[in-house]
Amino acid sequence: MKENPGLKIRIYGDPVLRKKAKPIQDVIGEHRKILSQMAQLMLINSGVGLAAPQIGISEKMIVVDIGSGLYKLINPEITKKEGSLCLEEGCLSIPGVNIKVKRAKKICLKALDEFGKPLFYKAEGLLACVFQHEIDHLNGKLIIDYASLFQRLKIAKKLEKLKRAKDERVLKSKAEFA
Ligand code: ZN
Repeated sequence: MKENPGLKIRIYGDPVLRKKAKPIQDVIGEHRKILSQMAQLMLINSGVGLAAPQIGISEKMIVVDIGSGLYKLINPEITKKEGSLCLEEGCLSIPGVNIKVKRAKKICLKALDEFGKPLFYKAEGLLACVFQHEIDHLNGKLIIDYASLFQRLKIAKKLEKLKRAKDERVLKSKAEFA
């Protein structure tokens, strides 16, 4: 597949990361194309998951691959949660920041596949956490929202730097168009 140079991972500070993604009514070829591009981008960046808002598309699509197979899901929804598990998580949109996040250990999930067919999954452990992380993105929620006050203080400078770098990029691209 050809690399899409326009496809970039959105970094903390980008408002799209805080928007609630829209559910997809009719699954069409364009969605399959975006899901493939997302899977490729996730792979290139050595990620285990990616949500559409992370590439600037505010629609309910995620890809997940922890090494045991690729999931491409549309409108994913958690239908059952059980137990709890605390893992240190990173996020491709917040480079350099790791946060311990407490999530459900086991989940049941419903979604549509890339052709609009209903899917039902059970997941536990790391896979369950990655699904929950990506579904959080669809609700505009980020790992930093789970940080304790102490952690927030620790990462505040890093976040400010990411935000500033993003603002500078925006200014630069505006200047290029000027
Ligand atoms: Zn993330």
